[in-house]
Amino acid sequence: MYVAGYLALDASSYIYPVVPLGITPWNPSAGLSLFLLLTCGRRFWPAVLIAAVAADVVVRNATVNAPMLTTAAFITGCYVVAATFLQRSWKVSAPLESTRDLVIFFVVASAASGTVAVMFVGLYAAIGMVSMRDMPLDVLRYWVGDLNGILVLTPALFSIRKIGNIGFAIRKLVSPEIILQLLSIGAALGLILAFAGDYPYRSFYALFLPLIWISARWGLPGAAVAQVIIQLGLITCVQLADYHAATFVQLQWLMTGLCVTGLTIGAMSSHRARLELALLDRQAALNRAQQFASAGEMTSALAHQLNQPMTALNSYVGACQIMVGQPILDAARLRDLMAKIEGEVRRSSEVVARLRDFYRRGATNLCPIEAGRLVDNVIQVLHRNAQSADVEIVSRPGEWSRRLLVDTVQTENAIQNLLLNAIEAMEMAGSKTRRIETSISVTQTSVEIRIHDSGPGVSAEMMAELFEPFHTSKADGMGMGLAIARSLVRASGGDLWIEPAAAGGACFVMRLPAPTSSDVLRA
Ligand code: ADP
Repeated sequence: MYVAGYLALDASSYIYPVVPLGITPWNPSAGLSLFLLLTCGRRFWPAVLIAAVAADVVVRNATVNAPMLTTAAFITGCYVVAATFLQRSWKVSAPLESTRDLVIFFVVASAASGTVAVMFVGLYAAIGMVSMRDMPLDVLRYWVGDLNGILVLTPALFSIRKIGNIGFAIRKLVSPEIILQLLSIGAALGLILAFAGDYPYRSFYALFLPLIWISARWGLPGAAVAQVIIQLGLITCVQLADYHAATFVQLQWLMTGLCVTGLTIGAMSSHRARLELALLDRQAALNRAQQFASAGEMTSALAHQLNQPMTALNSYVGACQIMVGQPILDAARLRDLMAKIEGEVRRSSEVVARLRDFYRRGATNLCPIEAGRLVDNVIQVLHRNAQSADVEIVSRPGEWSRRLLVDTVQTENAIQNLLLNAIEAMEMAGSKTRRIETSISVTQTSVEIRIHDSGPGVSAEMMAELFEPFHTSKADGMGMGLAIARSLVRASGGDLWIEPAAAGGACFVMRLPAPTSSDVLRA
């Protein structure tokens, strides 16, 4: 099949030859041979040799002789070496689709076709079949013929192999844009034909425009296919206008420049498309990882946030059970306990709903509230905990009535975490003075809530990763409290940190943005 294709290409491109040798300004069979060696391997060298000899015999009616066999063997050898070198140095799995691989391809194709041209013409000049005077021009004609044959056909064959089902691809690709691109190639070729008698090179540059457009739009495969169309169109123009062979050779050198430009832009565009795809893949992988991380964090957050109301519920239900077992039922006390149970249940479901929203959309429900109310609410909830740990919670006078615009449930959760940590730290350390001081101060743009305890303070080894998840000094701790508290405060536009406390203990600062009056009105 390859030999038949070689013969067909050789016969159809046998124009402006240096008779009786096969020196033509376009030699696509060289591109076919290189493609065969690159895709099927070096072991196909006999097929390349046979095709070269067969083309001389069939197309040019040559008789098999020593110079013919020598040149055929040399040509085969050169292209086998070129293919081997290319295969070893190409790095990207899709051939030619990186600019580095493309530059190597240009250099190797030029070197191989140049060597073949010099050797081929030189040998026939040595035996007198080519005049020494014509030798340089014939070398250039052979060289540009083989070089353009490779630059035009080899990338096109790679692209066709990659596309696979050509019929399907053509049906899928037929669009007004492609028709416009083909028309623009036709128009540029028409310009060349229009200046046929005058100076055809002048209008050759018009071909750069459609090729650049196609290469940038469709990448290397688009550039490769467009080159074939342009080359065939150029040959048609040359024949219609009946140019001199020398003019065609000159046009072919311009065609080499066109191919290098088109393929380079095409490869760069394909490379960019590959990078975009890789980036999208990475992004998708990152999103998946983030989803897993959020799911894990949400689970821990839920467990952590529900721990407190569940413990309270447990003790309230226990108290109810004791009460119903008693001979005289204290209805008022029972009602009070039931109200507390209801409150804790509502609180739990709010925590679940708010946390779910927070992790799903980062949603916060901003409401205007006095800063002091936020702290007071939590102190009330933790009243029993403080009492049983013998901790006194005092509030220093300050800007307690300052209005804030925050997510109340989330901010209260964060404050609750800080207070509970302080109570537990003092209880665990067996601190003599067990006191938590809460204070509120205002800066120009924010409100700062300070929670300062008289406990042991945060140990040096905990300090570095205090707000990182899963860092805990407690046997039954999860190490999620501060991490969650900080994300909750940040979701309301604030921040949370620990500051050195000269008087000892730990001092956590929660900064919340102070809203402008228009913010409060809008809320
Ligand atoms: P957990 O309470 O589950 O350990 P946190 O993230 O809330 O998780 O706290 C992490 C650690 O920070 C605690 O284990 C404790 O060592 C330290 N810590 C937090 N608050 C205080 C505090 N007020 N005083 C001393 N250490 C604290």
